[in-house]
Amino acid sequence: MNSVDTMGTSSTTDAPYRNLCTDCGVSRTSNPKRCGEVCQFIKPNYPDLESKVHGRTRDPHRPDELHFGPFKQMVRASLKVPLQGAQWTGITTRLGARLLETKAVDAVLTMTQDPNDAWRPVPILIDQASDMVKARGMKMGYAPLLSLLEPAIAKGYKKIAVIGIPCQVYALRALEKELGLEKLYVIGTPCSDNTTTENFHHFLSLISPEPKDITYLEFRADYHVEVRFKNGKKKEIPFLQLPLSTLPNDFFPLTCKTCVDYTNVLSDITVGYMGGQGEQWLIVRNSRGEELLHLLGDEVQTSAPGTAGKRHSAVVGFMKNVELAAGGLPLRKMPNWLRPIVGWLMPKVGPRGLEFARTRVEMKAIETVIHLRREQPARMASMVPEHIWPLVAPYDLKPNDQEIRKPLK
Ligand SMILES: Cc1cc2nc3c(=O)[nH]c(=O)nc-3n(C[C@H](O)[C@H](O)[C@H](O)COP(=O)(O)OP(=O)(O)OC[C@H]3O[C@@H](n4cnc5c(N)ncnc54)[C@H](O)[C@@H]3O)c2cc1C
Ligand code: SF4
Ligand code: SF4
Repeated sequence: MNSVDTMGTSSTTDAPYRNLCTDCGVSRTSNPKRCGEVCQFIKPNYPDLESKVHGRTRDPHRPDELHFGPFKQMVRASLKVPLQGAQWTGITTRLGARLLETKAVDAVLTMTQDPNDAWRPVPILIDQASDMVKARGMKMGYAPLLSLLEPAIAKGYKKIAVIGIPCQVYALRALEKELGLEKLYVIGTPCSDNTTTENFHHFLSLISPEPKDITYLEFRADYHVEVRFKNGKKKEIPFLQLPLSTLPNDFFPLTCKTCVDYTNVLSDITVGYMGGQGEQWLIVRNSRGEELLHLLGDEVQTSAPGTAGKRHSAVVGFMKNVELAAGGLPLRKMPNWLRPIVGWLMPKVGPRGLEFARTRVEMKAIETVIHLRREQPARMASMVPEHIWPLVAPYDLKPNDQEIRKPLK
């Protein structure tokens, strides 16, 4: 079991080695064997957990549920007064603070920064609203969030909120019943292309001669990466100009190349940006998610999300590159003279708003199938849930007999 210091951060010991693991924290608890039952990467059962959490599974006949999971409402949103230092306007941090202010929870379990490396996530239990600022901003990498569940319960906390990425939230939901909590609020963010903090530092060194001065980075929905520096300077790099083809093949671990839940379908509310066209994007999934949005009251402004452009050809182009990369071949390179022109055109004619989010979800599903088929074909049937196949069907990817999932109990 892990200890929790007076700051509420975890002091962890080494976890047992597991193949395909993002160190969500379960393997560091008093019963690491539970990984076999609760891990997103072993034999996930989304229909079962969706039913338990939301009262129903995703309904492919409702608009966008096949792509984004069950939901009641989707909105574009921003805090009227953005929180300094947050990744976007800070809706996630503010939700945690409001839960503590209103005493709806005893503590919020989330990530703070390592004191020696602002990009490295470290789990933290926060019980004062004013301390929520310690969690704001995106960190890159993995840290054992759920290892602090047992210490939280041991401290007598019965009402908890957890802010987590999808692989952490999957395990949390699978464990939820046995935790015996009075209340659990789950605020999820989408997640894609995570990697180790070390790999991320290498990436920063490729995009700037002063990587240590970078304080902020985001892959925006307008096809640009925004980078901010300590001295207040800002740089916007079109996706096409990123040095992605020079990254080593193992830059992204197989877990993240084959992750099947981009939008955090088991959260009560997902706080992302992909469908937000420059604002945040909220997916309110159940009544607890509605309760969370209401907690923000007038602090938040919302509007209906927009959608524009067509995704098919963008996804086909991406799939060709994934096939080449998975085969160890160099990515298709566009001539340098063409890059600025296409980079300028993409935000204007490419998929935007909800269509951008659908594009990204389909791209991720395609990556899952291609990479897992190549690297661990024997795990296709157990690791690839049913909802992935209709997402990739328009691109002629179909399961063979061995890849079709046997009904799960
Ligand atoms: C690795 C990664 C990839 C992401 N990719 C996408 C994406 O493709 N599309 C999209 O719409 N959104 C993505 N997000 C979410 C997005 O970056 C924002 O966090 C989200 O939109 C919330 O913004 P905010 O201003 O409300 O967050 P803030 O108020 O700044 O709060 C951010 C919260 O996220 C937590 N957090 C930060 N880093 C980590 C981490 N490594 N592990 C676990 N928790 C963490 C923090 O502890 C904090 O509670 C990603 C997040 C991560 C961590
Ligand atoms: S990701 Fe979590 S549940 Fe899965 S093997 Fe690792 S520690 Fe266990
Ligand atoms: S991409 Fe998926 S597997 Fe990787 S850290 Fe994010 S949620 Fe976890």
